[in-house]
Amino acid sequence: MKKTVAFTKNAVNIFFHILTQCNLKCKHCYINREQHGEQKLSIETIKAWLEVFARKNKTANVIFLGGEPTMHPDLPAAVKSAKKIGYSSITVDTNGYLFHDILSKVAPDEIDYFSFSLDGATRKTNDMIRGYESYDKCIAGIRKAVQAGFSTSLIYTVSTLNIHELDKIPLLLKDLGANRFFIQVIGLRGESVKTGQEKLQVLRSQWLKIIPAVAQKIAGLGITVSYPKVFLSSDEIFECAGTVAENYFIFPNGRVYRCPLCEDFPLHSMAIQNNMLVKTPKINEVDLFELNIPEGCVMNKLIQPGNLSYNQNGEPEYKIACCMLKEEISP
Ligand code: SF4
Ligand code: SF4
Repeated sequence: MKKTVAFTKNAVNIFFHILTQCNLKCKHCYINREQHGEQKLSIETIKAWLEVFARKNKTANVIFLGGEPTMHPDLPAAVKSAKKIGYSSITVDTNGYLFHDILSKVAPDEIDYFSFSLDGATRKTNDMIRGYESYDKCIAGIRKAVQAGFSTSLIYTVSTLNIHELDKIPLLLKDLGANRFFIQVIGLRGESVKTGQEKLQVLRSQWLKIIPAVAQKIAGLGITVSYPKVFLSSDEIFECAGTVAENYFIFPNGRVYRCPLCEDFPLHSMAIQNNMLVKTPKINEVDLFELNIPEGCVMNKLIQPGNLSYNQNGEPEYKIACCMLKEEISP
């Protein structure tokens, strides 16, 4: 069944970067250390911040991220704390290296998903993007997690560097025994800004031709697939998740963003100070959310306008959707 997931309007999602350090140097890494520092949060602070967001909503979902979250020796304690507090679901996003023997320190009933990032169906393509040996490590990590009884997802960030290998992914997923597949679109943040939009972002025609078809094929194998909508057709309504959904992107320096495309700038609308969530002064991302422009997403127009196209009258030919608007196909 195919449906548009409108930012899971009744859910609260906490994207919790517990550190920014990572063992890899992916070409498109979105972590911007100039903006988000090099800190690693103490377990006491992680627990306190989990409490802060649980007070906002008891049924929030938490996704632990980094950098590489398994490099944090206290990740198991953070997971157990989130479970005890009552978070609805707990996910760990990992590059697959699974440091500190994480699989033996948490149980399958404590973690809803381990989500593994792989950016190529072959060793050659993945390692060109994510670094030498990262393919083998990630594949081995998925196999170990599946064998230990954990549910797993695979995240594939589509760019001009790897879109040609998407058709090989269905067989790989089946072989690995992964439960879910997330396609992401590359955004111009962090490291990918240096490479440039025209070199990394795929054309609209290519996206529309390849992505929905591959997603359908993968769902046919019994795997739930989600992919960002990116391009809205003329009859579809634009909505900014910043105004209609509750997503919080938390960084170890205390910044809290509502929009991931704002993360390269000091535009965060909230911050955690003395373990309290406070609003930041204007001008911040919230002022952008309220702007109504014919191109759809304001941040897209500001940071990656190359994916827009205009007719002879200077009107945009389509709108760009919020980067958090997804299509989901369940088997
Ligand atoms: S994208 Fe993820 S795995 Fe790659 S360098 Fe950045 S934090 Fe590390
Ligand atoms: S990506 Fe665009 S539409 Fe989505 S929250 Fe950010 S500014 Fe709003």
